[in-house]
Amino acid sequence: MNKLDAQRQKEIQQAEELLFAGPQALGFAKGLFQGHFVSDWVMPYPRISEAQNAELDGTLTKLRQFLDEHLDAAEIDRNADIPRGVIDGLGRVGVLGMTAPKEYGGSGFSQMANCKILEEIGRRCASTSVFVNAHHSIGIRALLLFGTHEQKQRWLPKLCSGEQLGAFALTEKEAGSDAANVQMQARPSEDGLHFILNGEKRYITNAAIADVLTVMARTPVPGSDKTSITAFLVAPDMPGFEIIEARMPKMGIRGTATGRFALRDVKVPKENILGPPGKGLKVALTVLDFGRTTFGACCTGAAKTCLRLAIEHANTRKQFNKTLGNFHLVQKKIARIAADAYAMEAMTTITAAFIDRGLEDYMLETAMLKVFTTERLWECINDVFQIYGGSAYFVDLPLERMMRDARINQIGEGANEVLTSFIALVGMRGPGMEFKEIYDTMVKPTREQGFAKAWTAGKHRLGATVRVPEVPVQSAELRSFANQLGRLIWRFNVAVNRALITYREPILDMQLLQERIANAAMDLFASTCVLSRYDSELQSAQRNGSSSSPDQLAANLFLRQSFRRIRHFLAGLTDNEDKSVLATAKSVLSNPGD
Ligand SMILES: Cc1cc2nc3c(=O)[nH]c(=O)nc-3n(C[C@H](O)[C@H](O)[C@H](O)COP(=O)(O)OP(=O)(O)OC[C@H]3O[C@@H](n4cnc5c(N)ncnc54)[C@H](O)[C@@H]3O)c2cc1C
Repeated sequence: MNKLDAQRQKEIQQAEELLFAGPQALGFAKGLFQGHFVSDWVMPYPRISEAQNAELDGTLTKLRQFLDEHLDAAEIDRNADIPRGVIDGLGRVGVLGMTAPKEYGGSGFSQMANCKILEEIGRRCASTSVFVNAHHSIGIRALLLFGTHEQKQRWLPKLCSGEQLGAFALTEKEAGSDAANVQMQARPSEDGLHFILNGEKRYITNAAIADVLTVMARTPVPGSDKTSITAFLVAPDMPGFEIIEARMPKMGIRGTATGRFALRDVKVPKENILGPPGKGLKVALTVLDFGRTTFGACCTGAAKTCLRLAIEHANTRKQFNKTLGNFHLVQKKIARIAADAYAMEAMTTITAAFIDRGLEDYMLETAMLKVFTTERLWECINDVFQIYGGSAYFVDLPLERMMRDARINQIGEGANEVLTSFIALVGMRGPGMEFKEIYDTMVKPTREQGFAKAWTAGKHRLGATVRVPEVPVQSAELRSFANQLGRLIWRFNVAVNRALITYREPILDMQLLQERIANAAMDLFASTCVLSRYDSELQSAQRNGSSSSPDQLAANLFLRQSFRRIRHFLAGLTDNEDKSVLATAKSVLSNPGD
């Protein structure tokens, strides 16, 4: 095997271990790739339980009051620091232990409720929402999910109150998007009671202010010369822990402390291992599933701020003797922000509900939510920026800050390109495996397998593709949208099958094709969430006898625009200039001097 093949083999093995360990449950998004619409998981639109809603309302009221009085996003950006008073206040309101069980000092809220809290913070200050995410959504998440009772009892109470802070440390120089390439070493001590950690981490939010860090390091696999990743709880008072840079100066979310640290022969007790030894990558990815959900909530909040700012300016600023809101090209932007903000909230709520309902598999949905909401938010900010014209460029308005702050979203917690490819490949795995089975049986028929098995498998696949799935809605006025969505899911499944049959294994490297498939899948998921929310709002409006609201118009617009995009992505699978794109890139990359 040459070096390239060996590397490829290693990548495939890592991906398999990472993504497909254990049985494959059919999540909602995976169902879309197979032409199914698993309606029970997305309809009716999920609601927070009444008991929890009352508690959440109380917390939101306290939070809003606290943020109104104490949070100054411009000052946080200017000083590149979130004041300790703000952190303490968030702790008092319960934000820093929102989803931790009450027995450990948390608030015991669901993910859906947690998302409402983060949406509120995301409306006001991205530095603060990223700080909360780093501490609660990812920093202490591994402890919440994988910690033993003793570990939780020891660490959680102070982390929930904010007396102590958490961080999540995965990224290193050589392990950015390629998270599996962690180089930090953890070798067992001779007495077997500790692990000795060595290496450096960079770009870690809260690194220098955290009292507990979830650190991913490479441990030997007993009885072999291989290594795998394990998650450890590390405290900065352990000898050998060194902050190299506490606050790396940066473009946006300046209030967060993004740092670099080194561990030099740090002795970590083996009781500090989180989750099964050697399964740290799985731990990390599960943690990031939660982080991506609250990411969606923060982006939703910021998009709502974009909408408010756009409306305020378009209704007051006059040019050509008219307020800007009279111009169709301004209206177009505002309508799209409203439609996208509606969709972002619906998608966040449904994804959070998957977690709350204890579904096994929501990796694809959280990746979709992250990519979709971060890309839409970027567009929203760009549009509102344009509506404000020159004034947006100056620091007395929040827009340039919001733009700087939002840029990290497309990179952090999985770069959008990496997640886009992931969405397509994981989604296609189900139908791909079936085709592989058909193909393998056809080219290598054995007496036991033969063509009969291939024929059965083929019939099964084709049978799945001929039916248009039913999308059940309660409201008669949404039947047409539901039928269109069903037909688009059917067309999507046909397109996925066709791509798999046409390209087979090389599809693993065809990222331009993967992007179209992932984009179509994301819009199908977003449309589903919007339809579900729209249906439930129409139903309750009918019950209360109220008339159509701006939200319903925004939902209607979103579905129309989303369906158009899906048709466009699917058409692009066969009508595109990919060869020319790749030839140009290759030529330019190999002639840097020209
Ligand atoms: C402000 C900030 C805070 C952060 N906080 C944390 C934290 O708390 N904890 C933590 O562990 N990490 C944190 N990170 C790290 C963050 O998760 C990484 O920056 C991110 O995963 C990308 O890694 P990288 O920067 O090394 O980029 P690279 O991996 O070098 O990627 C650069 C670009 O290459 C492209 N690319 C890479 N791989 C592929 C591919 N397979 N296909 C197509 N395109 C590809 C993408 O466009 C990507 O944006 C933070 C980063 C920043 C900037």
